[in-house]
Amino acid sequence: MPFTLPELPYGQGALGQFMSAETLSFHHGKHHKAYVDKTNALAGEKGLAGASLVEVIRAARERGDQPLFNNSAQHWNHSFYWQCLAPPEAQRPTGKLARMINEAFGSTEQLLAKLKEEAVGHFSNGWAWLVLDRDALRITSLHDADTPVAHEDMRPLLTLDVWEHAYYIDYRNARPDFAEKVLGNIVNWEFVAENLDGRGEERANQPG
Ligand code: FE
Repeated sequence: MPFTLPELPYGQGALGQFMSAETLSFHHGKHHKAYVDKTNALAGEKGLAGASLVEVIRAARERGDQPLFNNSAQHWNHSFYWQCLAPPEAQRPTGKLARMINEAFGSTEQLLAKLKEEAVGHFSNGWAWLVLDRDALRITSLHDADTPVAHEDMRPLLTLDVWEHAYYIDYRNARPDFAEKVLGNIVNWEFVAENLDGRGEERANQPG
């Protein structure tokens, strides 16, 4: 079965001024969809029909197949990213996640400041990440399509897309503003907390 574009977990207008319906329409409906379509075309040609998305990403990495890796990893990265966002309801981390954040960074605000710094400092296209590295929280970033799925020491918790297509419509070239507004207002902390079980990878996977 070919991979499909997952539906957004909220309406296109639900993220308000922080991420417009127009951004979501292009980013999800066109950019993400293109990665899905290319992954299907390439995986079929390369004898990987029937493999799950995560299996396709790992096979592409092992074979050094950059076009297949880029498209399949971007399909997974975006499928994860949409779930990291939620309508603005002044949500903040609670419970175990809040305790871990306070231990590692001092406070949620300090975590957000560090994540913003990572997102803004990442040169050119890529993704800023909060990951679980064994039992510790870690902030990092990955270049282009690279993904935690290809790194054993990275269990995904939260990501921010810092490709220009993620923010140009709403924020023009102002990546710092985009990072601050999105991280401060529309993060789905419940989803981040769920991922503390180390199974975030499965939440953006698709069967083959
Ligand atoms: Fe993107």
